[in-house]
Amino acid sequence: MYRKYLGVLTLAAITAVAPPISAALSNTDISVSTDPFQPAKKMLTERYGNISPKLWGEVVPGVKTRISGTDKLIALTLDACGSARGIGIDQRLVEFLEQEQVPATLFINARWVGPNRSTLQRLAANPLFEIANHGLHHRPASVNGRQAYGIAGTRNISELVDEIELNNRKLSEVTGHGPRYFRSGTAYYDEVAVKIAADLGMEVVGFSLLGDAGATFSREQVRRALLAAKPGDIVILHMNHPGSGTADGVMDAVPELKRRGFRFVRLSDVALQ
Ligand SMILES: [Zn+2]
Repeated sequence: MYRKYLGVLTLAAITAVAPPISAALSNTDISVSTDPFQPAKKMLTERYGNISPKLWGEVVPGVKTRISGTDKLIALTLDACGSARGIGIDQRLVEFLEQEQVPATLFINARWVGPNRSTLQRLAANPLFEIANHGLHHRPASVNGRQAYGIAGTRNISELVDEIELNNRKLSEVTGHGPRYFRSGTAYYDEVAVKIAADLGMEVVGFSLLGDAGATFSREQVRRALLAAKPGDIVILHMNHPGSGTADGVMDAVPELKRRGFRFVRLSDVALQ
């Protein structure tokens, strides 16, 4: 169910609503435009360019934050954000998940890929994990530049398309698969940006349980946060801060959650809501 980079799902999503666009996409003349996304940007600007978003936050219609149903399932999602301070890989966390056969969905920012390319390829080749899109520049998903945590959002539709599609392209080049899921940098969205991401074929994923607060939690805080999990929670954690409390907190909590009857899943293993 992986989405090919600018592949079938993307074209289907676009052409289902506006059939003439398919001709524009397939007849793109690269001598006129070197931007392969120009036709999609033009179509999306025609569709959404006059709409001013009214919502801004982590929970906006269209953002999936939970697993559907009542089964005792938990989805761990690990972000690799790639800021100057967050370019590492938490080997202890990854090795624990591998040893314990705990699946996870890894949201990868393009900046993190450079120094971790071979690690990413190894993780992507392990069916325990799936690779998802955490943006090109780690910017909040906005069509008008709104900020979150002091980080400026994408300023317009064109920047938003680049934020999503250029990282899809990078991840596809490195791993051989285009991601299916998108979580913006900071996990903030306006509702127009969420619709655009969906038109590009992405499922937009937030979270229901804050696992490590940007890898700032202590071991005990991570443990307590995870042990408060309820059936269907999507947990947000970070795999790019070795030395944080995240790995130890996860190691403390996962065996206890298993004892309580919880099963861990990748996002693609379940339906989301
Ligand atoms: Zn992040």
